[in-house]
Amino acid sequence: MRKHTADSDHEFRTYAPGFWAGQDFSGWETSAWQLKNRITSLRQLEEHLVLAPEERSGVLLSGNKLAMAITPHYFNLIDRNDPDCPIRRQVIPRIEETWDNPDEMADPCGEDSHMPVPGLVHRYPDRVLFLVTDRCAAYCRYCTRSRVVSGAGEQELETNFEAAFRYLEEHTEVRDVLLSGGDALLFSDAKLERILKRLSAIPHIEFLRIGTRVPIFLPQRITPELCRMLQKYHPLWMSIHTNHPRELTLEVKEALERLANHGVPIGNQSVLLRGVNDDVETMKALVHKLLRCRVRPYYLYQCDLIEGSAHLRTSISKGIEIIEGLRGHTTGYAIPQFVIDAPGGGGKVPVNPDYVVHRDATRVIIRNYEGKIFEYPEPTLPSAAQPAVETTVSR
Ligand code: SF4
Repeated sequence: MRKHTADSDHEFRTYAPGFWAGQDFSGWETSAWQLKNRITSLRQLEEHLVLAPEERSGVLLSGNKLAMAITPHYFNLIDRNDPDCPIRRQVIPRIEETWDNPDEMADPCGEDSHMPVPGLVHRYPDRVLFLVTDRCAAYCRYCTRSRVVSGAGEQELETNFEAAFRYLEEHTEVRDVLLSGGDALLFSDAKLERILKRLSAIPHIEFLRIGTRVPIFLPQRITPELCRMLQKYHPLWMSIHTNHPRELTLEVKEALERLANHGVPIGNQSVLLRGVNDDVETMKALVHKLLRCRVRPYYLYQCDLIEGSAHLRTSISKGIEIIEGLRGHTTGYAIPQFVIDAPGGGGKVPVNPDYVVHRDATRVIIRNYEGKIFEYPEPTLPSAAQPAVETTVSR
């Protein structure tokens, strides 16, 4: 598949108003306008784009599974002359989403079976995932939580906030709470603050995280008021979700800088997607732009085995190849950890290129990023510390 990184994707640009030129787009810079004017129907899509038959059928069927919604800000990043546009592939449904595949699952990470109270996933010993809403600013076609997100599928997210707070108060082993969903940043400042305040009052919770794609889909939501509110609940970290360098527009960069200026450390999670970011050049442009936005590339996820995602998934070796193409070839801070969320609920498993060629009790043979081979001797204990000492003691 050809590469999708255009020269302009390496730079921060503003794309507004693009598709809306000639129409009334006053209010563009507010999140309320962006949410009100989301693209949610076939008619709206076809006002702006010529759809492929696979997309047209996909849109018509998406209402039974994962709704379609795209903010004007994000929609504007689509290259209308490129049917394989990497932005388009992420948010416009395709008929392939309805294809059956025996390897795929509705809940590939086994979250439902690790929910002690509705909406709270407790899979790792010391941390929880708190699903606070089922709504997002826009919907990603490969969403791992598409069974509950958007309200279109059969399953509903029925978070019991009081039960979740009580559970967290009682479970003193929980030191880290990740707010996700859906996207918590879609709540009003006041509603989000009520949750943060309540969680911060629990003495054993050491820090809070928000997992969000709002800075990418809806940078207008990252207002100075929101940032000032978030600042009150430090240590508060944020995991954003960016897949392609074009997503990092000037507006997004400014939003991320606003968060960073208010003391929010930000990491990025990317999902490895066929035709979107499955080549070294695209990922390198992405991670370089992220660092310039003061965001640390954190994870590169192998796409989960979510139903209807086969056309977006790549081989695992593609992810390894990308990491190999980054390690040693760019700043260490720019390199995310490639992980597979083990199907069925096994948690994240890191997957790395094989840099250890051989290992035994005396030495390790390693290879560097250029393929050169080196030997590192294992430490040998000085003779005084050898078992002879033990022998002496036991006499
Ligand atoms: S923003 Fe996150 S939760 Fe929402 S649709 Fe995309 S991947 Fe799913």
